[in-house]
Amino acid sequence: MSSEKTPLVSPRPQAAPSSGCLDIFRGIFFSSSASNTEEPSYNEKDAQAYNEMVGSASNDALRQGMEQLTISSNSSDLNLSDLWEKDEFAKAVHQAIDAVSAELREISLKLHNDPELSWEEYRAHALLTEYLEKKGFQVQRNACDLDTAFIARAGNSDKVTIGICSEYDALPGIGHACGHNLIAISGVAAAIGLKAAIEKFSLQAEVKLFGTPAEETSGGKVSMLNKGAFENVDLCMMLHGANADVVFPAFLALDTVEVEYFGKASHASASPWDGINALDAAILAYTNIGMMRQQMHPSQRVHGIIKEGGQAPNIIPDYTRSSYTVRAPKFAEVEVLKKRVERIFKSAATATGCTVKLTWGVPYKDILTNDPLARKFEHYMNEQGVKYATKEQQQSKLSGSTDMGNLTYALPGIHPMFNILNLRGEDDMSMGLHTKEFAHASAQYTGHIATLRAAKSLAMTGVDCILDAELLKQVKHQFESTK
Ligand SMILES: [Zn+2]
Ligand SMILES: [Zn+2]
Repeated sequence: MSSEKTPLVSPRPQAAPSSGCLDIFRGIFFSSSASNTEEPSYNEKDAQAYNEMVGSASNDALRQGMEQLTISSNSSDLNLSDLWEKDEFAKAVHQAIDAVSAELREISLKLHNDPELSWEEYRAHALLTEYLEKKGFQVQRNACDLDTAFIARAGNSDKVTIGICSEYDALPGIGHACGHNLIAISGVAAAIGLKAAIEKFSLQAEVKLFGTPAEETSGGKVSMLNKGAFENVDLCMMLHGANADVVFPAFLALDTVEVEYFGKASHASASPWDGINALDAAILAYTNIGMMRQQMHPSQRVHGIIKEGGQAPNIIPDYTRSSYTVRAPKFAEVEVLKKRVERIFKSAATATGCTVKLTWGVPYKDILTNDPLARKFEHYMNEQGVKYATKEQQQSKLSGSTDMGNLTYALPGIHPMFNILNLRGEDDMSMGLHTKEFAHASAQYTGHIATLRAAKSLAMTGVDCILDAELLKQVKHQFESTK
């Protein structure tokens, strides 16, 4: 508890231990399921395990609360403890999110049944912005001159601004196989929870929900960042469904490149000596990258395909186009790796007499997980029964890449992954992201409950940053020291 913190609401004088965390956190499971009786419920094992874990976690919190209550009662001003105050905030956040569970479920399924690709998320944009407006947010559609981006804000002051991101683009052929329908509602839920706390307790703060398009292809967040959307935002957080619970995900930084070789066409039999073979250049590059892999660190990746390799076998190809992705755990490593592959692309042109054109894409940086924010989120997930492996164990699993990484280089942030496959906190490696199976799981009710559970923790993390000036200071200090 920070000495700088000023209590912003009156403590509850009649607060009795039995109305503390235990009831609130036990309520999560029952209230959510009760409001959606038409849904196929989770299996018995899930329900039992979840309630047992929630029960024991809350008992710890309750005990802690009683200790703090005793200390507070002995003091002269009789202020109730931090925890009791937060208890009220948690109640407001949890109740606000539970109250919209059925509506969010409907939105999630609509998005799932109607997947839209990057930059084409028009119906998702309309659905989400309309809903947020109905819920009392000020909504800016087509934010940053991007057709499918939005910014929704609520609150009464920009003293502290908490940013949350939603994503809603899908994948070609396999729809919401990355579960962005769940990410969309996780952001909406967290924003609704924060809005409820800000308004109920007249907190000097605002929440901004960023609707960020095209995460799967070309970084809507990067475009929004470059256009200043995140200026004056103190921190930004988002959630991502997965097959495990992870607060410290190891996302790789990446960059992409289109490689075009320009040669000269000629008859492949009558006058091959007159030609300059652009396919030879593409093949040389592909092969030399294969050779380079032996000298690459195992955590780095270079992978590519030839998209256009010529028109006909009897014509020396005068043009080829390949596409490569370069990844490494840290963005600085990607910069080094880029120089190595650039040498290969250029040398293949020299060797064949072609010219080469390299077009680099939008780089995705790795995630700089903000430690104080992550620990807060972890704490609130623990209270809801979710346990985590150590930070080192979590970071040892390499993952994909995300444009959220760029935001975490620009302002403090976290990108926790939450398990949508079961509520018991058990890793389930039977399926991964970007598979048909994961697309199916993203529409199941278990995933919905897991999403709201994580959104509650994210909202509470935001509430803590509003209330606790010392925490916000730590968050910013840690950001400055790691970027
Ligand atoms: Zn994805
Ligand atoms: Zn994703």
